[in-house]
Amino acid sequence: MPHYRSLSPLNLWRLGSPTERFVVFGLWGLMLLASVGLGLASVIWHWSGLPLEFGGVVVYITVYPPLPICLFLTLSCGWRWGAPPAYLATLTLALYAGMPLPWALLFACANPLGLAVMAIGYQAIAVRRDLRDSTSLLFFVQLSFVASIFSSSGALIWCYTNGIDRTEVLPIWQGWWLGGFLQSVLMVGPVMALLWPRIARWQARRPGLLRTPRGDARHSVLRLLGVASTGVLVYGFLTIQLAGSQLERAVIDGVPAIGHAAGVMQQTTWAFYWVFALIVLFIAFFGYQLFTHWQRATDALLDELHRANQGLEALAHTDALTGLLNRRGADARLHDEWHRAARLGSGAALVLLDIDHFKHINDRHGHAAGDVVLRSLALAIQAQTRAVDIAGRYGGEEFLIILPQADAPGAQLFAERLRHCVAAQAAAHGGRELRFTISLGVAALDAADASHAAWLQRADLALYRAKAAGRNRTEVAAPPGEGRPDLPTTSGTFTG
Ligand code: GH3
Ligand code: MG
Ligand code: MG
Repeated sequence: MPHYRSLSPLNLWRLGSPTERFVVFGLWGLMLLASVGLGLASVIWHWSGLPLEFGGVVVYITVYPPLPICLFLTLSCGWRWGAPPAYLATLTLALYAGMPLPWALLFACANPLGLAVMAIGYQAIAVRRDLRDSTSLLFFVQLSFVASIFSSSGALIWCYTNGIDRTEVLPIWQGWWLGGFLQSVLMVGPVMALLWPRIARWQARRPGLLRTPRGDARHSVLRLLGVASTGVLVYGFLTIQLAGSQLERAVIDGVPAIGHAAGVMQQTTWAFYWVFALIVLFIAFFGYQLFTHWQRATDALLDELHRANQGLEALAHTDALTGLLNRRGADARLHDEWHRAARLGSGAALVLLDIDHFKHINDRHGHAAGDVVLRSLALAIQAQTRAVDIAGRYGGEEFLIILPQADAPGAQLFAERLRHCVAAQAAAHGGRELRFTISLGVAALDAADASHAAWLQRADLALYRAKAAGRNRTEVAAPPGEGRPDLPTTSGTFTG
């Protein structure tokens, strides 16, 4: 699901192409001008609190074009793009209408607040923004309702600063939130359905221009639940409170007959409201608990899966008999070391070794004895190598050791030390002492080794020569392309 990632103005400025910058900042500038102009128009031509007959009931609608424009900017690019024009448009019209500056500065926050609710909603839940399925459409409609309630806080400031009587507030407030809600759904909805796929494609192609969302999902869900519950509760509270004020006026205006009935009705409504408020808070609280529980369970499962994968990965590269790397693991490390050493020019040497006359050990003492010998050789290798060295069982009784940063003389010294150590030790099996020797081929990495396979082949040839020359000895490979005979070889007096 596409996550809500907003367009970063800074990244667009730094990384955007000239066309991208011109189009996006240009369109944004035009929308800002349109917002301020149309905001003023809505005051000059009184587009607020227009009565609308709705199934026998009169509802009031305020037409305020900056809102859909800024909502579109918020949904398509982010709150940072939608909020400034919304703020400026409202501030301008408030100052034009003679609102004192401190009040105007506060009043102008109303629509950015509603837009923030939209952004919070889309950050918390990754639904589509093209409104082309029922889930995304329902989410958009519900969130628009809550956002309009937040935006309509401006109506209360407007009524207060204009000294509007408490009994007259309902139509203005209702016009504000209902107008905002209907404009969001009927105007921004279709525009998003039409344009969002295209904008999304562009944003997907240019991920560098987007801001990476911060914070974890739990916080954004908590924020959304808090905002949604507050919106619904404030809506209920204001509706009952302001309708009550209108009722009081009707009674004062001389319709005392309905006074008592109205009083009972109002008390019942308030009782309902507080029960309703508790239910909403209950749902929000347990919804959040459920979500965090689910997320913790998912996190734990992912952790376990990760650990299991790591175990499997290690197992796939480990030789069961000796605990060293197996051929697959050793090959992978050889490839990596060849790359690393070739790139850094840091040097590395390869030692390939094979047990002498191993078939005899198997034949004379049995396969189990052969396995004991293999394990004791692995122990000797582990004892002689350093932490940075890499050792693996390459074939049946053939082992490979990579010595990072070693040169030919150093590797030869190591090979000889290992050879002596193996020759001097004995593996115990069935009350017998099994003695054995190894032959080794050493190849220091050369710049002319075109691949790790070429490097390995030179070590293999050196090993072959060690076998041919009588076993229990070390041969050092000549650099590639040089037909010269081996570097000085060393051998012991042991026989297999
Ligand atoms: P050479 O000195 O020329 O290396 O003589 P060799 O007898 O060691 O010859 P070769 O390398 O051809 O013999 C390999 C033998 O190793 C064949 C096989 O029976 C034995 N072998 C291979 N894998 C294992 C294993 O896992 N356990 C045991 N016990 N023996 C194995
Ligand atoms: Mg052998
Ligand atoms: Mg062999």
